Amino acid sequence: MKAKHYWEQQERIGHPFDLPQRISEGIDACRKNVEGKSADSATVRYIWIYLTDDGLRHGHGGHDDQPELNLDDWLNIIDESAALGAEWMVVYVGASLSHAPLIWRMCSWAQEVHDLNVGLHLTSNCLSEDDIERLMRLDRERTFLVADETAVSSLRFLEERGLHVCQSDLHLDEGVTRCNKPANIACVGPNGQLFSCGLVLGEQEYALGDVRDKRLSDVLRDESLPHTIEDTSRFPEHGCDACPPLMVEQIRRRDGG
Ligand code: SF4
Repeated sequence: MKAKHYWEQQERIGHPFDLPQRISEGIDACRKNVEGKSADSATVRYIWIYLTDDGLRHGHGGHDDQPELNLDDWLNIIDESAALGAEWMVVYVGASLSHAPLIWRMCSWAQEVHDLNVGLHLTSNCLSEDDIERLMRLDRERTFLVADETAVSSLRFLEERGLHVCQSDLHLDEGVTRCNKPANIACVGPNGQLFSCGLVLGEQEYALGDVRDKRLSDVLRDESLPHTIEDTSRFPEHGCDACPPLMVEQIRRRDGG
């Protein structure tokens, strides 16, 4: 189902969980597409989206001459990644959720249509009443907030309200694993450039193409593209900031899973 039709239907039926049959069929089709692809290099497990590059230490995520992606573009990326097997999505939103108005529709689409777990990576602990109310409307068990060590403790109160809260900048003694081969990650910058992963976001030597020009499955299968990071000296002292597999590991450790 195309996203536009989904939103039209949601407005008509007025209840976000009363999904029409056609969406269920879409999910089934998605799952069938994934069956038999578990060992395929084109399998995606994590979507890593940078809705903005504000506040990033290490440059920006795209070409300045390219327009930022719109809602339909982002939902198409979620659809394609889900069809390739994605289960988790982490979205970098910068300092404030109110600066990223697309985020709520992206989260609803990811959770309600594709059953994804969704993480929102913030660079501050500033949440408005409206932000908290909107967070409470998401599927809380499958929603997690990600923030650095300085901000994370003041977001912990949301755990009592059913959300997960993760620290983005883990230390190496906190079970962080280092890798040089981002696996099963679809990492997209604000202007639609795909990168090997967030560690090298904005570095053209690790650019994999533009999502508006290439199918994600073709990018992942293209062995001529830089899917590995050879220069290990670039790894930060702490673990890679908000890397989705590390955040998932953290949630699982805390849940005892
Ligand atoms: S961000 Fe770091 S840990 Fe994550 S995939 Fe990239 S290199 Fe590996």
